[in-house]
Amino acid sequence: MIPYGRQDITQDDIDAVIATLKSDFLTQGLQTPAFESALCEHTGAKYALAVNSATSALHIAVLALGLGEGDWLWTSPISFVASSNCALYCGAQVDFVDIDPNTYNLSVAALEAKLIQAKKEHRLPKVVVPVHLCGQSCDMQSIAKLAQEYGFAVVEDASHAIGAKYQDQPVGSCEYSDIVIFSFHPVKIITTAEGGAALTNNPELAEKMTLLRSHGITRDEKLMQGSSDGAWYYQQIDLGFNYRMTELQAALGISQIKRLDTYIEKRHQLAQRYNDTLKNLPLVLPYQHPETYSSYHLYPVLIADHASIDRRSLFQALRSADIGVNVHYIPIHQQPFYQNLGFRNVSYPIAEYYYERTISLPLYAQLSLGDQMKIIEILIKELSKT
Ligand SMILES: *Cc1c(COP(=O)(O)O)cnc(C)c1O
Repeated sequence: MIPYGRQDITQDDIDAVIATLKSDFLTQGLQTPAFESALCEHTGAKYALAVNSATSALHIAVLALGLGEGDWLWTSPISFVASSNCALYCGAQVDFVDIDPNTYNLSVAALEAKLIQAKKEHRLPKVVVPVHLCGQSCDMQSIAKLAQEYGFAVVEDASHAIGAKYQDQPVGSCEYSDIVIFSFHPVKIITTAEGGAALTNNPELAEKMTLLRSHGITRDEKLMQGSSDGAWYYQQIDLGFNYRMTELQAALGISQIKRLDTYIEKRHQLAQRYNDTLKNLPLVLPYQHPETYSSYHLYPVLIADHASIDRRSLFQALRSADIGVNVHYIPIHQQPFYQNLGFRNVSYPIAEYYYERTISLPLYAQLSLGDQMKIIEILIKELSKT
């Protein structure tokens, strides 16, 4: 089966992990800070914290911003459930903002309309999580303007978007947000097996997230109550978690990030070939906003309403040909857990329209020309039937 996404592991990656496995530190050594430095260097952010998943990064990000009971977090319904679950971990409530019909990212117009209404009802969000779907940045400048006007914090869920650019700046620079999070799950752009990171330019948020990542424990005397008892001494000054990344994962991350730019170029070549070969079929191909340079984590196509085949049948035809197409995403508010939270009678029409028609085509750095042509041929065959 040709998968929809797949990691690329080289001999250099394997050597880096084995060398770390033979070293003195399997966790809490020098690889993790070195990976964090590489993330800062790549993005221009001042601080980066590597953690064991993007889900953990989202959790400590919103906690550091003070999200808790009685607060609201808003995000896009077209995302992975982790984008909104982070609010529920903190006892806060979730609401969604419908997507833009072109980019499929959180719609700034819908956000503004919802903010105007929420202000009247005194239930403005404390945190908004824009998700850079498929690796294309949201309209961050406009979101930052609304954040200032309405007083909410912004956490960019850039799980798809390491290597992408917005207004010629790397996604992750935190230019228009408080915190940016990345995922290094194997289907994402670069991998540490499991892993994630939270980046910020704010020293207080970096310090708070550092504590939360590791039990709320500090060895920094400046942060302690009273004075240190000696060299063995540490204090727990907050309630944190064990969200640390291992040294093996960080070593893999350092090795992988060296190939980040090559990966993005390769993904652009593959996306361009899909653009060129599929443009005359009854499909809506991914629109690219001129201010963005996508990392092309995903290449979703929407089956046009005038196509002679529906989404289910096209999906099945591709799967029967051993092509691991997928759907990103089932709207979060339609998940049974969220239905039970009160979203049963709520509708986000553009998100639902998108969901009913979308299929993610395989796209990853090592997808061969031959495999991609096979996918294209089946699409042409299925969509040309009358
Ligand atoms: C993958 C993903 C996550 C979660 O990442 P993990 O590293 O698996 O925890 C969160 N948000 C989005 C949009 C994702 O695609």
